[in-house]
Amino acid sequence: MDDTKYGTRDKRGNWTPNQPVEIAPFWLGKFSKMGKFLLDYLWPWNAFHMAVTLAYWFLLIQPNLDAFKSLSWQWALILYAVNAGGIFVLYGSVELIYYVKRKQDRRFKYNAKFPSEQPSDVFWFKSQNIDNFLRSFFVSIPLWTLIQVGALYCMANGLHAFGWLGWQEHWVWLVILTLLVPAIHELHFFCGHWLIHQGPLYKWIHSVHHNSINPSPWSSLSTHPVEAAFFHSEILWHLLLPSNPIVALFQMNSTAYGAINGHIGFDKLEITENTPVDSHAYAHYLHHKYFEVNYGGDGLIPLDKWFGFWHDGSKEADERMKERFRKKKEKARAKANPA
Ligand SMILES: [Zn+2]
Ligand SMILES: [Zn+2]
Repeated sequence: MDDTKYGTRDKRGNWTPNQPVEIAPFWLGKFSKMGKFLLDYLWPWNAFHMAVTLAYWFLLIQPNLDAFKSLSWQWALILYAVNAGGIFVLYGSVELIYYVKRKQDRRFKYNAKFPSEQPSDVFWFKSQNIDNFLRSFFVSIPLWTLIQVGALYCMANGLHAFGWLGWQEHWVWLVILTLLVPAIHELHFFCGHWLIHQGPLYKWIHSVHHNSINPSPWSSLSTHPVEAAFFHSEILWHLLLPSNPIVALFQMNSTAYGAINGHIGFDKLEITENTPVDSHAYAHYLHHKYFEVNYGGDGLIPLDKWFGFWHDGSKEADERMKERFRKKKEKARAKANPA
């Protein structure tokens, strides 16, 4: 595909989309865009996360639900193998096709460089890929699994603030809740993510994830353990909300498997020559580039816009960001040297 029809490439080879990121159209009163928005909302990413969730539930968890009534290392290891295997297949395929074999070369790639071309001392073994891979599989995925074991223990033992709801009696609410799962993610992620950007928390915790200024799929789950525990704990909201185990697992899976979206590094993935799939990566790519913008996702609940952190990739947004950074520096200077 010709990516210059969709964006521009600078002298260094970095590609920028022509279209700024837009928050969800219903916030802007653009109801004519709702059809495309809803299609994008469901297909392909959330449909994929739901398919994965149904496979987890019907093939693995439901047939063995009694086994989760007590805590066992054996089941924790089985779940770890499934989680790690699933992530390895999804993230590994994108990494292999677009970063190792470079099927579409640099077309639609925001940053002209590939992480393997940039060794750096900030990473274990000086390699972003090895560092990110090890942190994902030996920190983030084990913590995800432990939280999952806790949630399954609650499901198997009927532990819930209101009692788990069944589909037959409560299907209308459960369908609505399923559709709200990405919104719950956005609220949870924005709040925690903003918090770990503040003061020493950034240095202690979140800087690990931000070492990857030019993220690739393996960067998605590469975090400090505190961040990983927070990130994967979204499922716990479903112990407090009227919910069902499948919806709760969908929350967990769409967070873990969906973390790749912000870190794909390409605006579109060319599945075939003429079928590009939107990655939805740009808002979070800008977060990795500029740090103090876009703490949430790409504007389903536009908290960044409401709090003044939104960067949609446009020149105007760039100017607004620079002005905000300049004022912040001035304030810090005035604090350090009071007149
Ligand atoms: Zn990130
Ligand atoms: Zn961040």
